[in-house]
Amino acid sequence: MFGGTFDPVHLGHLRSAVELHEALALDRVHMIPAAAPPLRGKPQVSADQRLELLRLGIGDTPGLVADPRELSRSGPSYSADTLATLREEYGREARIVMVLGFDAFLRLAEWRDPGRLFALAHLVVIDRPDHLAELPSPLVELLTGREVATSQELMRKPAGHLLRLSLPSRMAISATEVRCRLAGGASVRYLLPEAVEAHALAHGLYRD
Ligand code: ATP
Repeated sequence: MFGGTFDPVHLGHLRSAVELHEALALDRVHMIPAAAPPLRGKPQVSADQRLELLRLGIGDTPGLVADPRELSRSGPSYSADTLATLREEYGREARIVMVLGFDAFLRLAEWRDPGRLFALAHLVVIDRPDHLAELPSPLVELLTGREVATSQELMRKPAGHLLRLSLPSRMAISATEVRCRLAGGASVRYLLPEAVEAHALAHGLYRD
């Protein structure tokens, strides 16, 4: 499960998803836009538009799926509820991995019921070259005894471990930067898939 606001999806998200699919030998990566992310402001474009951009960005990429499951739920989009639906579908024995970037990871202890996340899935954190910081102490406490050093160690159990990964193509791209550029009419070429860029420009998305 790779959740996010995807406001809009960019090549940092998509390249990470492809490399995770390979590195962890996953069957598929569910990319799941949040309808109402609990810990941040309202997204700039609608959930349906963000889903459409995600679909365009993924195109026919093997192993990546644009998954709308959070968009049909009302209220805040809690990841544990989403993981519970995946666990139900894939069964008790399946290895499920929740992926998040380092910036999102730093706030994990503030999420609703973070212990439940580890009951439902492994967490894999990917480094972002534009985000560096010490882990806050509530997070360190939450992680005690969970961290493993290699992806092989995630294979042994269906859930419960934390793995930090540095993927080969770490990209310092953020949706914030993309939105600012689109708002100001600056180029976003090679920050977004071409189909996402074309759709955003054609529909005037993120223009001031
Ligand atoms: P914003 O700038 O609006 O905060 P963002 O670029 O961080 O957006 P999100 O949709 O909030 O994108 O991120 C979804 C998930 O993808 C988060 O776990 C985030 O850490 C991760 N992520 C975002 N950009 C990258 C990147 N360039 N490389 C790796 N992971 C990323």
